[in-house]
Amino acid sequence: MEIIRTKQRLADVVDDARRQGRSIGLVPTMGALHAGHRSLVERARKENDVVIVSVFVNPTQFNNPDDLRTYPRTEEADAAMLEACGVDYAFIPSVEEVYPEPDTRVFDLGPVAEVMEGAMRPGHFNGVAQIVSKLFALTKPTRAYFGEKDFQQIAVIRRMVELEGFDLEIVPCPIVREADGLALSSRNVRLSPEARAIAPKIHYILELSRDLKAAGKQAAEVQQATLDAINDVEGLEAEYYQIVDAATMQPISRWEDAGELGAAGCVTVFCGGVRLIDNIRY
Ligand code: AMP
Repeated sequence: MEIIRTKQRLADVVDDARRQGRSIGLVPTMGALHAGHRSLVERARKENDVVIVSVFVNPTQFNNPDDLRTYPRTEEADAAMLEACGVDYAFIPSVEEVYPEPDTRVFDLGPVAEVMEGAMRPGHFNGVAQIVSKLFALTKPTRAYFGEKDFQQIAVIRRMVELEGFDLEIVPCPIVREADGLALSSRNVRLSPEARAIAPKIHYILELSRDLKAAGKQAAEVQQATLDAINDVEGLEAEYYQIVDAATMQPISRWEDAGELGAAGCVTVFCGGVRLIDNIRY
């Protein structure tokens, strides 16, 4: 595996690969890699001739400076994991390399980016669109892999791809969880032992909410009951729990209002001061 630090070197290897007609799989990450990231990388490895993984803590998508400052950075371990997965190139640039000057682009992301994470984290999705569009332009991937843990992010990226006219396939990948149900996240290392012990209740409560649907409750009732159940757990405080159309991200109150992809329930919960996100499909 080669570690690439510059856009120029990346452009050269990408051009070579494309000239030879080789498919390119891209996995964008912010590092502090775990088994969730690994599942994306392994899938990319199976489906492409060349695999590029980017490791870059993108400052423009952080709306909270403390979160950016304390974001875990484990480059050596990340490189070792990527090498073991058979990755061809790890793109690990500096902030100056990616943003030689400030990125002032504003993307017209529309309704998918206005709700939930978009409403709670102003500027976050525009920052995601900035970095992902740069990565797509640089790596010209055949396929790009994203985790369904960041469910709304996938819809936002699809919108960005449409706006920018990128010719590539977005591959959504299932959420990888700990044995007790907690969705893997780089931010989980911030959980105190006490917070870590209650965090799995989030997934447990989301699973129970499926039973409410099966018992005939409408989406609005399931949403309220789930929100209440989370907030009833001492140590959990939900920022939002929203049942949405899984394609448009728009809130629904009746199951029959969901389109072809069905409904999803998306949640953000503060657990011992750590902001955790998760979701479930109905
Ligand atoms: P991040 O490094 O947190 O920006 O995540 C990079 C990619 O890994 C994103 O597409 C995430 O959705 C995905 N990812 C993060 N955690 C998980 C997980 N537990 N399961 C599956 N994918 C994940």
